[in-house]
Amino acid sequence: MKTHLVGYSAAPQITRRRFDELYELRLLLEPDATRRAAGRIDADGLAALRDAAGVMMQRTTGDERARYSSFARQDAIFHDDILAIAGNELIRETLAHQHTHFHIFRLMFHARVTEEALDEHDAILNALSAGDGEAAEMAMRRHIERSRDRLLPAFD
Ligand SMILES: [Zn+2]
Repeated sequence: MKTHLVGYSAAPQITRRRFDELYELRLLLEPDATRRAAGRIDADGLAALRDAAGVMMQRTTGDERARYSSFARQDAIFHDDILAIAGNELIRETLAHQHTHFHIFRLMFHARVTEEALDEHDAILNALSAGDGEAAEMAMRRHIERSRDRLLPAFD
């Protein structure tokens, strides 16, 4: 699961049913956690999130695989940081065990996803930095729904 990229572009290994279940789980847990994070985040937490979001913005000239890999990793850090700030370790572990970023990385090849998520991360960041829990929850919900919709073509 580390850095060996060989074989990652093979057919998606997550089933459609499992994918739906994964996104249902994310939608149950992450928007609520993001609302809680808005009430707890400090300057260091915000800086860490901005770092992760910033790395995702760099349009590297590397090949598609390297770009997707880097994007999926930073996306995982971004989402995990928010869960860490929210403060429920069990929720954080539950989502970490799904290896969502690994599945997303695979699926991105098939769905031809680009960096559309960046604006959505910005919306989450802005709401968190304003301490606006409701807006943060909505922004995370919208991001996860759109992420799901972007990846769905991989199952066609
Ligand atoms: Zn994301």
